[in-house]
Parts: sequence; structure tokens; C-alpha cells
Amino acid sequence: MRVINFNAGPAGLPLPALERARDELLDFQGSGMSIMEHSHRGKEYDAVHTEAISLLTELLGIPDTHQVLFLTGGASQQFAQVPMNFLPPGASADYILTGVWSEKAHEEAVTVGKARVAASTALPDKRHVRIPRQEELQLDPKAAYVHLTSNNTIYGTQWHSWPDVGEVPLVADMSSDFLWKPTDVSRFAFIYAGAQKNLGPSGVLIAVARKDLIARGRKDIPKIFRYSTHAENNSLYNTPPTLAIYLCRNVLAWVKGVGGLPRLERWNREKGELLYGTIDKHTGFYRGPVEKESRSYMNVVFTLPTPELDERFVAEAKKAGMVGLKGYRTVGGIRVSTYNAVTVDNVKTLVSFMEEFVRKNG
Ligand code: PMP
Repeated sequence: MRVINFNAGPAGLPLPALERARDELLDFQGSGMSIMEHSHRGKEYDAVHTEAISLLTELLGIPDTHQVLFLTGGASQQFAQVPMNFLPPGASADYILTGVWSEKAHEEAVTVGKARVAASTALPDKRHVRIPRQEELQLDPKAAYVHLTSNNTIYGTQWHSWPDVGEVPLVADMSSDFLWKPTDVSRFAFIYAGAQKNLGPSGVLIAVARKDLIARGRKDIPKIFRYSTHAENNSLYNTPPTLAIYLCRNVLAWVKGVGGLPRLERWNREKGELLYGTIDKHTGFYRGPVEKESRSYMNVVFTLPTPELDERFVAEAKKAGMVGLKGYRTVGGIRVSTYNAVTVDNVKTLVSFMEEFVRKNG
């Protein structure tokens, strides 16, 4: 029996993608071995690698100016690798701080070079509950790049329109909302996302990068950390996480099968509206801290009137077959992560549970 999984990441994967992996596990396409036992230089794995890249290119409409990369080390490694590649001595980068992950990205950039804070939405108690307005951004027109986090997994805020950064390359950590809807890739110089929320298992990170920027990247860093090394070798410079990429392929094939990103966006908006509708209906009981126009469609956060009720909510939901609802360890409360694999029906089940919970405890 599978549970309803609202984990924030690693998160639930679409059942058909897992079933396909199960069916192919011991004998991948009649080869007598699993995909993870194949050489990364062999034709079987090469077909999977190529298919994953072409599915992603098709689904996102990635233009010829950009290239898909599979990298390792997670988004946290990119916090360091982005400035290592794109922040040369004497230059400065701009960071927009909207939560824990963008703050961590900025901390790493400071160890490499000059990284300004172009805006921060931190409250005196360090929480973040909104996305900054354009006029709050103090952008340096000469910055090497501007970095933002498109969706703040912990605080449940999300950018709903991209800032105007002029001619400066825009870099985005999209770890927790990559592929949640169609996205104009051409606005970004470098997008990166750990796979383990919307795309696959942990162990692989997807980057969509402008080719000219990568080619201009710093060469005075070890080869393994240069994006150009991975770009020139089609992400096969060294052994890639083949099983993780294979699973991403399965998820991407599922996305295409259900109707692509426009369909995912419709489902994701419906799930968000169901949850925020319930929170807004019972504002005295379910308290959403996030400003309405900054609400995330991937991580819906709220608190109940007391920490004891938060705990009871999580425990009773678990008994009802729903897991992963506890808020981030430093923030508390409830967090419902509604990534692509969570169905509208899953959210309807949770919303009924929420209604029932107010009736019993409100
Ligand atoms: N960025 C965001 C937006 C995240 O949500 C996370 C992880 N939850 C990270 C970065 C860090 O990712 P990783 O653990 O893969 O390094």
C-alpha cells in the first residue's frame, strides 16, 4: 500500500515512472542486466541519456542558445560552483535573499569573491514571508550575474513574475519548482535544480545553461568544477549518476504522456487553490504566514493555534495515510509539498481531512 506523500524532498515520484523502473530493473530491454550495471559509454545507457535531454528540451522548449547539463553534488554544490565559474576576480555578483537557500548560496559566493545583497526580505526574526517588489531591488548594472531562488521550499514563497535585471545574466536556483509550469528559459543565463522534488531521485542535478556564458567561464579553477568541461563532454566527462538520470527519463516521459507542462501547471494551480482556499476559509485556525501574492504552489505552509495541535495534525494525518506534513525543523508548523507527482485527488483527501480536523478541534 502506497501512502500519500507530501515530503518536501526527496519527494514522491509518479507511480508509472516507478513501475517502469521496477519492470526494467533486472533486465533492461533484453540486455540481461539493469541500466545501472551498464557502462555509461555503452549504447544502452547512451540512449537513455540522450532521451532524457531531448525530453527536457522538448518539454521546456529549451532554445539552441542553451544546453542541458547533468551534474552532481546537489544544489548546495552549485552555490559554490556558480561563483567559481562566473565570478572572476574584481567582479561582483548580486544576490536576492528570499529564504534559507538563497542565504546559503550567498554565503558560498562570499567565499569566492564579492557578492552583494541586492535585496533581502528577512524579517527581524529572520523569517521570510514574501518576494520583493521590483523597486526594492538595488541592482548593480555591472554585476557579473544576479542570483535568485525561484521557490523558497522552507518559507513557502515563490516568484510569480521574474524581476527585470537588464542585461545582467540571471541565475536561478529552481530546485523546488523546476517544471512546475512552462517557463521561458531564454530569460535565464543559468538555471539549476536538484532532481529530488519535481524530477526524479536525489543524486543528480539538472542545469540549463547559456552556452556562451559557460564558454566564457573561468578557466583558473580545477577542470572538474568548470561547467565548460561538462558541457563539452555532454555531461559524460566522468561517470554520471546513471540510475538517477534513468529515473529522470522515466519521469519526463510520464510528464510528456500526461500532456506536458501546461497540464502540470493546471494541476498544480488546482492543488494550490484547494489548499489556500481551505486555509483562507478557516483563518482563525489555519494560519498562513505568507503574503497572498507570494504564496508558493509547491510548498504550502501554515500553523495551527498551538504547537500541540500541529503535532496532533501530523500524527492523525499519518494514521489516515498521509505523510511528510511536518514543517521544516527550524520553522515548525505544517508544510504541504505538492510537487508534480502529488495528484489533485491526493490534495482533495488532505483538504477533507483538514475540514474534519477543524470540526473536531476548532
Ligand atoms: N535550494 C533549494 C531551493 C532547496 O529546496 C534545497 C533543498 N531542499 C537546496 C537548494 C539544497 O539542495 P541539496 O540538498 O540537493 O544540496
